[in-house]
Amino acid sequence: MKKIIVVGAGFAGLNAILELEKRFRKNLEVSLTLVDREDYHLFTPNLYEVATAEEEFTSVAQVKSSVVLPLSQIIGRKRIVFIKGELTELDSQARKLKVGIRTLEYDYLILALGDRPDFSRVEGAQEYALTLSGLPGALRIRNALEFAVQAASHEVQRGTLRVVVVGGGYVAVKFAGELKSFLDILSWKYGYPRERLEIMIAESSDRLVTGLGKDFGRQVLERLTALGVRTEFHHHAVKFDHHFVEFLNGERMSYDVLVWSLGTAASSLPGPMVLPKTLAGRLEVDEYLKVKQAANIFAAGNMAQVLDRHGQPVPRSAAVAAEQGRYVAQALTCLMQNQKPRAYSLGFYAVTLRVGGKWGVLQTRRWLLAGYFAYWADLYFHFRHYWRLLGFGPAVRYVFREKEIFSRND
Ligand SMILES: Cc1cc2nc3c(=O)[nH]c(=O)nc-3n(C[C@H](O)[C@H](O)[C@H](O)COP(=O)(O)OP(=O)(O)OC[C@H]3O[C@@H](n4cnc5c(N)ncnc54)[C@H](O)[C@@H]3O)c2cc1C
Repeated sequence: MKKIIVVGAGFAGLNAILELEKRFRKNLEVSLTLVDREDYHLFTPNLYEVATAEEEFTSVAQVKSSVVLPLSQIIGRKRIVFIKGELTELDSQARKLKVGIRTLEYDYLILALGDRPDFSRVEGAQEYALTLSGLPGALRIRNALEFAVQAASHEVQRGTLRVVVVGGGYVAVKFAGELKSFLDILSWKYGYPRERLEIMIAESSDRLVTGLGKDFGRQVLERLTALGVRTEFHHHAVKFDHHFVEFLNGERMSYDVLVWSLGTAASSLPGPMVLPKTLAGRLEVDEYLKVKQAANIFAAGNMAQVLDRHGQPVPRSAAVAAEQGRYVAQALTCLMQNQKPRAYSLGFYAVTLRVGGKWGVLQTRRWLLAGYFAYWADLYFHFRHYWRLLGFGPAVRYVFREKEIFSRND
């Protein structure tokens, strides 16, 4: 019996295990195990909606249901064993994992643990900034915003209430765009003057969403400006305290709510092993996404440093992680059958971003589209993801629910 274990039920891990299940469904000589510390798959692209969904319109249970996909529903009756627990130790020599109190043995291992916010870049980040990196974080932001507006409405002499978002990547711009309508609602709810609510993005470079093209950044900037979001370029944050953000240029800016949306580092891998990693802790992999210098271990998604043919890192996104998960399953199947897999290369690539209501930007390798159509393209990509995990019927229900819930404050 060959034991395959996939750790991480995110975009890469889930796609890997589902693809393996398809390939080995009838092969009882292969066992498939999925490990995750949560018993659900978190649909991160909608987390910004959770952080900006007003309680009067949308209950916590409703917003949760739009980002949390129970693994029991995804796995159903498939021949996959799910183990809920934290990977606490990996011994690549002995081919053993520790998950909670259990020790699991594997023949082949796929690591897909994703990444986490890297607070090491700015002093005080961990203490003072809120992040969108998970469901609790998104709910904390939503509560902090509501509390700040409510408290400000009781103050007689109150200056501008400022929400500062540090970092101008795609998570930040999605959040800032959606924040506008959330703050409109809060200002109406608590009778706080709308003109005294400010949203500001502080970005260290000279454009937004630097990982994508210049035109992409320009479209997003125009949209945010039209929504009333202020963007400060060349503002490299170096320190946070209770009330202020300090920038490299010496400027100090007060904030009421501070949201961190800067760099990430790979999830850490505990245990007695030395796997080759980049500075951000991402595992170095070869052209088959096999971890270098490690027998029978593959890595996919944000925890792997995957390079394209020109030696450049491929983008880190949900769609790319999912594609890598499916690829790894194919490569592993070939290796198990003593065949040579094709090398990994990034397939059709499209990035979509929603920025405030029913407006989005869509970029493929060749073209760029901004506006209402791109919003629908984004919704379609969500649908396709749900479809792969849950099947057609539930995917239609999920995407309709998502549209219904999150359109309420648009
Ligand atoms: C707020 C936010 C918004 C985003 N929006 C978009 C977007 O609109 N479009 C887009 O393309 N991308 C978006 N992304 C990026 C996208 O989420 C990632 O690129 C994608 O999740 C990477 O997939 P992954 O499988 O590598 O990791 P993940 O999806 O993060 O999955 C990792 C899994 O590993 C589990 N895990 C981690 N450590 C352990 C451990 N020690 N033991 C057991 N289990 C563990 C976690 O619970 C998780 O289930 C967003 C990210 C965030 C945070």
